[in-house]
Amino acid sequence: VKLIIEIPNVFIFQHNAKIMTNKTILHNASVFDSVSEKFLEARSVVISGQVIETVIEADNLDKNDKDTIIDLSGKYLIPGLIDCHVHLTFNHKVIADLTGAMYKVKDFETAYNGLKHAQEYLRYGFTTIRDCGGDLWGADLRRSINYGQFIGPNLLVSQKVIGQYGNQELFGPREVINYSKNEAISGVDSVIKAVRDRKASGSDFIKTTTTGGVLHGKDSHVELALWRLEELEAMNSEAERLGMHVAAHAHANQGIYNATISGIRTVEHGTMMNEETANEMAKRGTFLVPTQAAAMSLTKPEMQKILPPEVIRKTETVVAKMKESHKIAYEKGVKIAFGTDAPVGGDHCHSAIEFNNMTVNIGMNETEALIAATKTSAEAIKLDHLVGTLEKGKLADIVGLENNPLEDITRLSDLSNYNSVFKSGKLVSKKGKLIHFD
Ligand SMILES: [Zn+2]
Repeated sequence: VKLIIEIPNVFIFQHNAKIMTNKTILHNASVFDSVSEKFLEARSVVISGQVIETVIEADNLDKNDKDTIIDLSGKYLIPGLIDCHVHLTFNHKVIADLTGAMYKVKDFETAYNGLKHAQEYLRYGFTTIRDCGGDLWGADLRRSINYGQFIGPNLLVSQKVIGQYGNQELFGPREVINYSKNEAISGVDSVIKAVRDRKASGSDFIKTTTTGGVLHGKDSHVELALWRLEELEAMNSEAERLGMHVAAHAHANQGIYNATISGIRTVEHGTMMNEETANEMAKRGTFLVPTQAAAMSLTKPEMQKILPPEVIRKTETVVAKMKESHKIAYEKGVKIAFGTDAPVGGDHCHSAIEFNNMTVNIGMNETEALIAATKTSAEAIKLDHLVGTLEKGKLADIVGLENNPLEDITRLSDLSNYNSVFKSGKLVSKKGKLIHFD
């Protein structure tokens, strides 16, 4: 018998749990309906407190004098966007500099970077972010946002990665290898302890690595899959028991396969999978978070200039295989969520690059790409009871756009396209500018 401790996602509701009698009404817009997968014209979204009370035909709106009516005629409303894979700590220059720039950034500075970048995502319509490997500031930032001290997206944080011993958990240059020795984990008991440590320090989910990585140091080979299956199974079952899920960074096929058969929920990158692995992922409902923007960016001339030759070789391997791998996944029916791996692909909030990759390289249409970044991503990170669609009972995380994103989804990186962004029923960004709480 599997013991599951139910831990509700109470954190999202902490800063404003009061239900309002007067409503906010987003009136007369085209509203994206995740059931028919179409925009329904002339609809009104009725918000009560933090949640959507109903979505109705604008003509049928029965309003009260106390209600706040926001006329959004001509605008397109979509669910708040979700990026399942970012690293809020750093900017692009620092993360791509393998000579040690990352480690000159002080601890508290990384926390302030996290806040700045998290808020930046709100301006671009991303109301939920999964920080996929950071440091111990993560849970504190999440709490500060949820307590209402700062505006920011719903945040899920893994904090420290649980790396595979013998490879890239020893991420980066030598001084960090020494620093991170205590993070190298071996054996089932040790893995269980690491999961509990993350839980104790406030992580929402576990990030692990089942292969080496491209930017994870010169000697971190993308083929290396070093975890024993019993270690991965123990990690996953302990995480689930504590109300968390596991995200696995994985490039080569063996690491993707091992993550999948261990029951891990999301495979990050998934660069070199074969058909057997794709079938297994589809069968088990494992999500793929493609993060093509990150890998592709490493082939740019300005990046090639600063990367060491060993890393350039890895870049070439990964980029050559990735498009084919993700096409196989798509054709076999693997569920595809949205993730940019920013700032690896060039600082933060460049969702257009990833949307473009999803349509051009994977073959998804614009509707499928939008659903990937909303409904499917919400399922991937187990928040689909709260976010991802515009339906009764969901949090009122809503983005008002000037243009129909299904005509050109890459305009989701264009700030002039953003009319308004609501998080939990509150206007947090207007015409691309943040609105801080009173
Ligand atoms: Zn990453």
